[in-house]
Amino acid sequence: MNQPDTTEFDVDLFVIGGGSGGVRAARIAAGYGARVKIAEEYRVGGTCVIRGCVPKKLFVYAAHYAHDFEDAAGFGWTVEGARFDWATLIANKDKEIARLEGAYRANLDRAGVEIVPQRAVVEGPHQVRLADGTGISARLILIATGGHPNLGLDIPGRELGITSNEIFHIETQPGRIVIQGAGYIALEFASVLANLGSEVTVVHRGDKLLAGFDEEIRQRLADELAQNGVTFVFGATIEGIYAEGGAKRVRLNDGRDLFADEVMLAIGRVPNTTGLGLDSVGVQLDTRGAIVVDQHSRSSVPSIYAVGDVTDRVNLTPVAIREGHAFADTVFGGKPWSVNYDVIPTAVFTEPEIGTVGLTEAQARAQGRRLDIYKTDFRPLKATLSGRASRVFMKLVVDQKDDRLLGAHLVGPDSGEMVQLIAIAMNMGATKADFDRTMALHPSSAEELVTLR
Ligand code: FAD
Ligand code: NDP
Repeated sequence: MNQPDTTEFDVDLFVIGGGSGGVRAARIAAGYGARVKIAEEYRVGGTCVIRGCVPKKLFVYAAHYAHDFEDAAGFGWTVEGARFDWATLIANKDKEIARLEGAYRANLDRAGVEIVPQRAVVEGPHQVRLADGTGISARLILIATGGHPNLGLDIPGRELGITSNEIFHIETQPGRIVIQGAGYIALEFASVLANLGSEVTVVHRGDKLLAGFDEEIRQRLADELAQNGVTFVFGATIEGIYAEGGAKRVRLNDGRDLFADEVMLAIGRVPNTTGLGLDSVGVQLDTRGAIVVDQHSRSSVPSIYAVGDVTDRVNLTPVAIREGHAFADTVFGGKPWSVNYDVIPTAVFTEPEIGTVGLTEAQARAQGRRLDIYKTDFRPLKATLSGRASRVFMKLVVDQKDDRLLGAHLVGPDSGEMVQLIAIAMNMGATKADFDRTMALHPSSAEELVTLR
């Protein structure tokens, strides 16, 4: 489509934001010979690497040991003196994140992309301005600025609360924590902290967790987390946070007070478009402040593109990466393609873990389809000796019309790993009959997927 221009502009592509989407786009575009600069105001790697998926998953691993040590006893192990040290986890996690950031920087260097360690804003259709005042002209601008935690309403004491940004750096593990929200972030941290021994209360304005997930999954996770020690307060919001004698008093809208050492707000994320200069050049935003783009990630200004969370399509790292890759192939590689959003596997890394892909039963029914639903609910083999009460739940949503798998929804160990592979089958148009004729792998949990009746 657009070929690199070597004369008129300082660079062919200026990327604002060195996270998942921006880094991928920059590297691929540079690989096609484009002259690329990428501005990053914080740390290269973006949310996922620095304060999202990666440190979160390291926390999830840490939290798992709590149950692993308990479970080991049934298998003959004596685990004495097991103790958890928050400071060690934080320090080791920080080391790994620094290593990863270095790898991201090295990859950009190798690809010939210049990293500009500053905030950048848009000043014209082909012009960006850096924080130090430097102006740079670009044939194309890619906005990949991601999002930030929603801080919600302006309640008294809001500054006493933390978000997912801070939780990775607090010096001591909170003895008690109140978390507002019941989405991915609230529940992953509730699960991690409860396993690590914190007293966790989740306050949610609704009456069910994880809006948009399959109904049975939502209920199952609530039961399992409660069993793991998480307390839920439904139909409530935090109206104020007050410092009191070294602790925090959390005032709920029903007048009740909760007491905690930390209060975390996990009530969604907001696209980073404020102060970016987009209104001055006429880039169209939606009501949530996200950049409106077409299927090639092009905004309403032809020379300005946007990928990742700043477009608020599906806010997951692999999606941002694909969007960045598709943009660069399309615009600089002469190989146009766009991202297929139909089959996106996703996991919620609670314990137990959720893995989900495709349509929920309710979504499929809302499309007027006639369905066959296959479910199983069983005690995993490991639990027979560990004694853990946790169960595994699996559900397949199948279209009666052609026997095709429309969705898979799992709760239990390794559910994320399983749905990654189910997604491949779905992309190939797998039918329930394809699952049935697949030989089981025994003994495993995944074998239940091919023996459902
Ligand atoms: P980001 O990765 O957010 O990168 C944007 C970058 O732009 C940032 O580095 C920012 O500093 C920079 N920036 C912003 N404005 C400017 C400016 N004006 N100038 C210069 N630089 C700027 N997704 C998953 O798929 N799996 C997970 O397990 C998962 N876990 C998560 C856990 C948490 C706690 C959070 C918060 C998110 C998680 N996500 C997860 C979501 C995932 O992190 C995002 O979808 C992904 O990072 C989006 O990539 P992006 O490139 O759009 O933006
Ligand atoms: P989510 O959108 O997942 O959840 C937000 C939660 O906050 C919901 O329970 C919502 O309730 C509630 N909420 C929203 N606004 C308010 C408000 N004003 N007052 C009270 N409660 C409110 O957002 P997260 O912040 O948890 O995560 C952001 C995104 O990051 C995720 O959607 C996901 O795309 C990505 N992510 C992915 C992960 C993964 O892949 N494992 C892990 C972490 C994040 P209601 O249901 O009523 O709307």
